[in-house]
Amino acid sequence: GDYTPEVATASVPTSTEKQVDVSVRSSSGVLYHQLRNAPLNIVGGRGSYLITEDGLEILDATCGAAVSCLGHSDERVHEAIVDQLKKIPYCYSMFFTNSAAESLAKFLVDSTGGKMSRAYIVSSGTEAVEAAVKMAIQYYTELPVPQPKRVNIIARNTSYHGNTLGSLAVGHHAARRRIYESLLTKNVSHVPQCYPYRRMNPNETNDAYVERLAQELEDEFQRLGPDTVCAFVAETMPGATLGCVPPLPGYLKALKAVCERHGALLILDEVMSGMGRTGTLHAWEQEDVVPDLQTIAKGLGAGYAPIAGLLINKHVVDTLNKGTGAFVHSQTYQGHPVACAAAYKVQQIIQDDNLLPNVRAMGEYLGQRLHERLDSHPHVGEVRGRGLFWAMEIVQDKETKEPFPGSKGISRILHATGLKPRHAISLMPGNGAVDGANGDHIILAPPYNTTREEIDLIVEKTVQVIKEVLG
Ligand code: PMP
Repeated sequence: GDYTPEVATASVPTSTEKQVDVSVRSSSGVLYHQLRNAPLNIVGGRGSYLITEDGLEILDATCGAAVSCLGHSDERVHEAIVDQLKKIPYCYSMFFTNSAAESLAKFLVDSTGGKMSRAYIVSSGTEAVEAAVKMAIQYYTELPVPQPKRVNIIARNTSYHGNTLGSLAVGHHAARRRIYESLLTKNVSHVPQCYPYRRMNPNETNDAYVERLAQELEDEFQRLGPDTVCAFVAETMPGATLGCVPPLPGYLKALKAVCERHGALLILDEVMSGMGRTGTLHAWEQEDVVPDLQTIAKGLGAGYAPIAGLLINKHVVDTLNKGTGAFVHSQTYQGHPVACAAAYKVQQIIQDDNLLPNVRAMGEYLGQRLHERLDSHPHVGEVRGRGLFWAMEIVQDKETKEPFPGSKGISRILHATGLKPRHAISLMPGNGAVDGANGDHIILAPPYNTTREEIDLIVEKTVQVIKEVLG
């Protein structure tokens, strides 16, 4: 999402006019986000720590981008990968299936209680979102009475859904979209997020706010013509661009009701919030909704392999089955045996080690400690989160909620400061300039097997970094 790796290495002027001089290395040829500077070189990892080539041990408080949910060196996953490599590293999914993909898909389908009946396994979150949107379009062409007019997608402001042209169009990351606007489909429009901190009116109740948000979606359906809308897309819990805002009770249910009223699909993007991150395997389990299509990624393979998936509701599968019987889409590395074997083992470990209760317990503890230490900080506007997925929104003025100007790059400075050897913690920065209105935020997303001691250390280091940068 908005965690820009260049910030770890750039010299950035801070609000307090200090210079953050994080070491700058030259790259031998890898193209990083920042062309001129390479980020710190990681040569090893152990549990929650990453080890640089200089031997610095960095506490990875974010699992990268909420990915490495088992930490960095689980031998059981290594073994599963090697076993699969010895059996068969690759076979082409247009011609063959493989046992690793079958086991993973069965686990995923079972984990939804059969509500989702197929898993389409790809290699990145972005690809999963692309596949979801394309499948939604195809679905309407294959209904017994086809509805080919349904070509509009409604998504949400300040959302992150990926970086290819389709997923970028669905997302709403202004800075990443700007120079590519000409290539982005105009068939996507955006409605407001559920974002109580900034968007709820004074004296408005939760219910009234949820009703207002549902009405805004309804209005957008009416503006477009309800029978032209194919899907509404939302992150179950927005991560990268908004910073861990838990949906208000009843919110997703109310929005799903709007979709159902107009016969449109609900696509929940759980690339970041799913696979256990918020305390249940699927974030929607806590919302009393079942999506028609669901994307998953980061926690699925825990970083041991690039892997993502699209979970497909039974009624969509049944429609495609009765129609052409094929999804008009295919990718060379779909259902990759080694990636699937890694992810299957990761998921077994999450179950066998009973990690989801730990996510809930440690998440609650993390939230409590962050509230204790940072609620009163003059530049921490809000501490919020769920499970092991927490963010602090950073503001210039706590009273007015005025953000720091995007040009200050506050979250990037916080990230760069964290990587200094004296702190040695990796925090995930989010940029308040994404929509020009929100504050910066930093995200914490520790591994699912984290401990109270580790949470204490993460909180202590985070507080020290915030104090150093913001006073
Ligand atoms: N959707 C969401 C909700 C995400 O958070 C991300 C990644 N931050 C993506 C999609 C894109 O995933 P990837 O970077 O794996 O392509």
